[in-house]
Amino acid sequence: MVRVVLCLLYDNYEEKKPAEYFEELLGWDFYRTLINDKGYIRAIQQLAKEQAKDVGLCPICGRIAYSIEDEFCYFCNVQPLEDEWGRTECIVCGRKNSVIYDKMNIHLGGNHHSMPGLCQHCDAHPQIFECPICGQMHWLYSDTYDWMCYDGHCTTQGVDYKD
Ligand SMILES: [Zn+2]
Ligand SMILES: [Zn+2]
Ligand SMILES: [Zn+2]
Repeated sequence: MVRVVLCLLYDNYEEKKPAEYFEELLGWDFYRTLINDKGYIRAIQQLAKEQAKDVGLCPICGRIAYSIEDEFCYFCNVQPLEDEWGRTECIVCGRKNSVIYDKMNIHLGGNHHSMPGLCQHCDAHPQIFECPICGQMHWLYSDTYDWMCYDGHCTTQGVDYKD
């Protein structure tokens, strides 16, 4: 019932994201109680599944309501800035672009150009390395290949670097 009503309502939306739309429509107080309601949670997850091509786990609210193609969450409305989240493929489930990591902070001192990642499809938690010279990304501590850059050395360009 909730689901049907929400989908009908949301069909009328124009520029707003679903979470914004429902919050405005229903009022903050009612919305706040709704977001803990199992029926509502299910309804939003279903809405995301019907409207978005590629839906995955949202790292912020933990719901399966994140549109990977459009980069926003149907449930909590998180919308990362461009280049805030890096993306790479998942070697566990094989999906392209389904692993996210904190691209903004990956090159901060002490991180060794790596950050924890999360696959939005299979919940794998790899450690992701991003080369600061050429931008190549791969999973740390998994298979190693000759072509891989590593901390302190860019294999693509054949140069060493410090930090
Ligand atoms: Zn979310
Ligand atoms: Zn995966
Ligand atoms: Zn490199």
